Amino acid sequence: MNLKMLVQLVLGLSLLVTLGACGPKNNSASVCVPPSSNPSNKLHFESGVPCNQAAALNEAVSSLVTLPLDSSNSSVGLMARTMKTDDVTPAGLQNWMEDRVQYIINGDFKIRSHLYTTNQPFSYSEPNILPDAYTNSASVQGAQIIMLNVGTEVYANGKLAKQLYIVDLPGIGYVPMPSPRTGMLAIGPGLFNSLGGAQSAVVLNIFRLGTLFHEARHSDGHGKTLGFMHSVCPPGHDYAGLPACDLSTNGPYTIGAMMVKNLTNACTNCTAGDLLSLRAMYLDVANRVLDPAKAPIGLAPDASAGMDWDDSPEGSR
Ligand SMILES: [Zn+2]
Repeated sequence: MNLKMLVQLVLGLSLLVTLGACGPKNNSASVCVPPSSNPSNKLHFESGVPCNQAAALNEAVSSLVTLPLDSSNSSVGLMARTMKTDDVTPAGLQNWMEDRVQYIINGDFKIRSHLYTTNQPFSYSEPNILPDAYTNSASVQGAQIIMLNVGTEVYANGKLAKQLYIVDLPGIGYVPMPSPRTGMLAIGPGLFNSLGGAQSAVVLNIFRLGTLFHEARHSDGHGKTLGFMHSVCPPGHDYAGLPACDLSTNGPYTIGAMMVKNLTNACTNCTAGDLLSLRAMYLDVANRVLDPAKAPIGLAPDASAGMDWDDSPEGSR
């Protein structure tokens, strides 16, 4: 493959942010322990991801089997329709997520210096259409990033440059990005320290699952809905001024909130304290889906407020 190194990657897409208090860093890495309970987990970890963080994410995915959802429950049914799936079994949900998330990289990974392209032009669908928010990236100062769907960023930048971008991931190799569905997430500092205090394993697992499903949604959409980009929260909102809200009713915060709610309902061994933490987590996320009356106006009609956006993805894996 004829590769040419690229520079300049515009950042600013798909952020899940929180303003929670910082806890101790949890990045002691040495010898990797393979995921024990569910060998079918398909996430690929770049070699810079600390082993304990990879193990924690694998454990979260594996914990789906301990939190089986009741498909006859109306809240689960609503989530299934929103996700356009008829399989809410643990395996079905895992597949839905892994269709959209494949690679996990360390937040410190310098992706700009690991970006390549071929010298061949690449044909994108809807070549000149990008989300409005993509060209109006808001500052995230004051926010703490939990995870970031960098795959969608790389794809969108490739689309802008009309070339296929390829990321060289240590320990994995060259990963072409012909679609956001290639699914590449960077771990932010908030994923392992944002909850504050001692939380039980089940609370941490549900938090991380909600995050993974949130980020998975950023791998969907096309044209103006590409990446289901966040909107800046309006004045008066807890996150006013930050790109930490959704206009759509089927976006990342909706998916994340539904997952947290339904997994919490499925938790049979949660303590009263666990349930308090999980309900607070749910409310924080659900509150980021904007009331259309408070949303900005003048948006693209297929990516405006108070409606389900078209989730058909661009490109193919
Ligand atoms: Zn997000």
